[in-house]
Amino acid sequence: MAKDKKLVEAITSMDVDFAQWYTDVVKKAGLIDYSSVKGCMVIKPAGYAIWENIQKELDRRFKETGVENVYMPMFIPEGLLQKEKDHVEGFAPEVAWVTHGGLNPLQERMCVRPTSETLFCDFYANDIQSYRDLPKCYNQWCSVVRWEKETRPFLRSREFLWQEGHTAHASAEEAEERTLQMLHLYADFCEEVLAMPVVRGKKTDKEKFAGAEATYTIEALMHDGKALQSGTSHNFGDGFAKAFGIQYTDKDNKLQYVHQTSWGMTTRLIGAIIMVHGDDSGLVLPPEIAPTQVMVIPIQQHKEGVLDKAEEIKDALKHAGIRVKMDDSEKSPGWKFSEQEMRGIPIRVELGPKDIAAGKCVLVRRDTREKTECSLKEAATVAAELLKTIQRDMFERAKEHQKSHITEVTSYDAFKEAVEHKPGFIRAMWCGDVECENKIKEETTATSRCMPLEDSQPVSDVCVCCGKPAHKLVYWGKAY
Ligand SMILES: [Zn+2]
Repeated sequence: MAKDKKLVEAITSMDVDFAQWYTDVVKKAGLIDYSSVKGCMVIKPAGYAIWENIQKELDRRFKETGVENVYMPMFIPEGLLQKEKDHVEGFAPEVAWVTHGGLNPLQERMCVRPTSETLFCDFYANDIQSYRDLPKCYNQWCSVVRWEKETRPFLRSREFLWQEGHTAHASAEEAEERTLQMLHLYADFCEEVLAMPVVRGKKTDKEKFAGAEATYTIEALMHDGKALQSGTSHNFGDGFAKAFGIQYTDKDNKLQYVHQTSWGMTTRLIGAIIMVHGDDSGLVLPPEIAPTQVMVIPIQQHKEGVLDKAEEIKDALKHAGIRVKMDDSEKSPGWKFSEQEMRGIPIRVELGPKDIAAGKCVLVRRDTREKTECSLKEAATVAAELLKTIQRDMFERAKEHQKSHITEVTSYDAFKEAVEHKPGFIRAMWCGDVECENKIKEETTATSRCMPLEDSQPVSDVCVCCGKPAHKLVYWGKAY
């Protein structure tokens, strides 16, 4: 058995070194590999399949709200990027420039899109003429480039995959409505599909998107107590419309500026799934997103009838709509178990000659390792039910973890103490002054994550930092 354990022994325990544990899991679970391109990653089949499932389900939900997909160019001429002042200032430090076409220098250099607001605005300026052209609810699936100095697989890489939605509306109210609609769509997706509870909130002005009037965010709490911004939705008001001249004639034949939104989710989500649900044996995937939900592992497969029975079970599960595979490789069962656990496949079915003789098989949950015996005939029904239970339990456990990692503080000393010793969200009041926010960040490394939408119960009536009157409740924390 010593050899069989090697796969698991190779990963660092999460309590010893969480960062190393994370790196070990992404590699050993076969999600990514590094490449010769610095700061970028190769997303391998096991990782890409998770992204495809995220994409499929998000895309379905988008379309239900009337969103249509389009595709924009990947280059942005410098002049276009500079049209909105705050936006260019926000992104300038991290854009990559194309200066040559073949051997010839370009007249105007172009950046590789870090995000596509400017391209959509340029397009909308021509495409929108009348109130009849509104609303425009477009989305694109693509990759973007941001020249990050420090990179980590899925969490921060120079090129990453995402979707960016860009909408244009006739009124401010409609734009705000869309901004919040997408925020809630993101939050529901995380909770229902990724079994990942999130805090829905609004960013402070300091933390909002470059050029936005308001930025809403969903913040998830990782196993180590650090927050991860998991999706954002921005209301641009008519700021971009004025910079790009996006106007329409209303019903009274008057020229009006449109109101815009944008919203995005990225391959970061895969990092979040790893850090919310993973354990010392590797990845733990919520059934809803798992590319393979059940792995059938025959034991003593060389014995007569074992492989046939395993195949039968696999077919029955497949017939029941379960994403199932069978591992009939030459590896030992112990090795196969470790591999299935490392890859986070929610259930494995163990099936050997003795089980077959008794007309049963064993289902083992990845999340709790709990074993369930059932008759071969019932395997598909029991597995389908078990997948639902696992999905629900994973969400409940993550929710419990989130709840138990929220610390309420009323003094700056208690705040510092919490940052130091109580990983998680810190609930504290803020006066609204950016100086307090800066001071807190510099002195404690905690940042304001959001002003929560569904939790407005004040902790006190003064700012945790300066002691002046405060009405804003903020969730603070260290973040990825
Ligand atoms: Zn203050």
